[in-house]
Amino acid sequence: MDLKDYVRDIKDFPSDGIVFKDVTPLLGNPIALKFAAEALLALVENQKIDKVVGMESRGFFFASMLASELKAGFVPVRKSGKLPYKTMSEAFSLEYGTDTLEIHIDGIKEGEKVLVHDDVLATGGTAAAVCKLVERLGGEIVQCNFLIELDFLKGSEKLKNYSVKSLLHY
Ligand code: 5GP
Repeated sequence: MDLKDYVRDIKDFPSDGIVFKDVTPLLGNPIALKFAAEALLALVENQKIDKVVGMESRGFFFASMLASELKAGFVPVRKSGKLPYKTMSEAFSLEYGTDTLEIHIDGIKEGEKVLVHDDVLATGGTAAAVCKLVERLGGEIVQCNFLIELDFLKGSEKLKNYSVKSLLHY
């Protein structure tokens, strides 16, 4: 099955000049959804994972499925002010300005093996900030995996220290 058939390009979203990869057709198709979840799981190759960290918000869909299949816990990373308990924050640069991501301070324990997941790897700023949060809490990143990698934005260069695997490349 070609999962790219279920990814739709939306021109000028969320702002002019951006071509946004919309994964909702994939999520909405039961066969594509199961196929993608199994293929993402296969990227992990039976490595031991204690926690799967998913990025708000589209990262949550597959991260929680992966956690369940890997018999690991799921830990959300969210934009600032959204998590209810004590948090650790990491600011990162966007094209214009900065953004801040947060994780609960008890989300990861020292020495836990972590899989980081998001739907799309674009410039890599988001994933690099998430990796910093995980490491500041003492977690060991086993892999960063993505449904989609936009190769031309070279996001994997920001994740040079980690194993990066993506299901679909554009
Ligand atoms: P980065 O920090 O790598 O530039 O951007 C990645 C983050 O932005 C991810 O959390 C991802 O969900 C979102 N993102 C950036 N571009 C796209 C896109 O074309 N499609 C989708 N679905 N998400 C995107």
